[in-house]
Amino acid sequence: MITLSAIQKVLIDNRPDALEDLAREAKRITEQNFGRTISLFAPIYLSNYCSSHCTYCGFHSQNKIDRIKLTADETRKEMSTIAATGIRNILMLTGESYKFTPVSYLKEAAGIAKDFFQGISLEVHPMLTAEYKELFEAGVDGITVYQETYDRERYAEVHLSGYKKNYDYRRETPARAAEAGMRQISMGILLGLSQVAQDLFQLYTHLRELEKAYPGVEYSVSFPRLRKIKGREFALCDVDDKTFIKIICLTRILFPRVGINLSTREEGKLRDRLLGIGITKISAGSNTAVGGYSLKELEDQDPQFDTEDKRSVAEVVAMVKERGFDPVFTDWRPIENKT
Ligand code: SF4
Repeated sequence: MITLSAIQKVLIDNRPDALEDLAREAKRITEQNFGRTISLFAPIYLSNYCSSHCTYCGFHSQNKIDRIKLTADETRKEMSTIAATGIRNILMLTGESYKFTPVSYLKEAAGIAKDFFQGISLEVHPMLTAEYKELFEAGVDGITVYQETYDRERYAEVHLSGYKKNYDYRRETPARAAEAGMRQISMGILLGLSQVAQDLFQLYTHLRELEKAYPGVEYSVSFPRLRKIKGREFALCDVDDKTFIKIICLTRILFPRVGINLSTREEGKLRDRLLGIGITKISAGSNTAVGGYSLKELEDQDPQFDTEDKRSVAEVVAMVKERGFDPVFTDWRPIENKT
């Protein structure tokens, strides 16, 4: 059984050997369950319209930024540019706006994505089960939805308005997506937003609940660290590299078969070090601006966050191979999604 005190104990243990022991065990379990493979994916930002106000995000509804939404032709151009790098798993992102990126818009994007990619996931506003079913049938395999923090008080402090303000609706989102038939569900917390041990404990509890209720789903987790936006600091606590590594290791040990994703928010050197310790999926060649791959220069807009690892897909592939891992571009063969 996972307990809060056991998590706290690991996070505060600063004995020199403790981290090494933890990493060794995490590495062993990762190899046993995933072999020496690393899956690759790329995000594509379709729109930055958002009706929610999260204090820590540059896309929030009150921020006076240029709002952009890709047309079908632009989406195709962006996707073709990404696909040309070899990437076959795509994560389509938007701000959270039913008005500007309704289900019909996302279905159209999924239809285009099917021409280029084998794995199609969404990180958009939380939806109803029936809407997830529609998207699943349109070719979407998975969703990403982070609770950000499980601390209700802190959640209310940083989510001021919009759909995202509804804590319970958000927490129930992975279950609705699983109910609709989604094969992959990715969850996570935004490290630095609240007390880390508490949030980890709640995330693990949530994950156990879902594993029990929907055992056929492939779960993964991410631990993005809160970053400054244009020099503004939003973090409540600092999560240093050592703590970050401990979180990855602990998660691997407690959840041997759950995927652990790592984004380009983390700098390249740390990403390289974490391969094999617990990470199973990394983004590569990422651009976090809408139309950033082929249409607009990143400097032209305010991205949701800055990427730290600026390497191209080819450079990331070379690094993965150099470290003795096989880069995996496709997790499964495309099949018709039927509910
Ligand atoms: S985190 Fe998501 S919902 Fe919140 S402001 Fe940013 S894009 Fe909108």
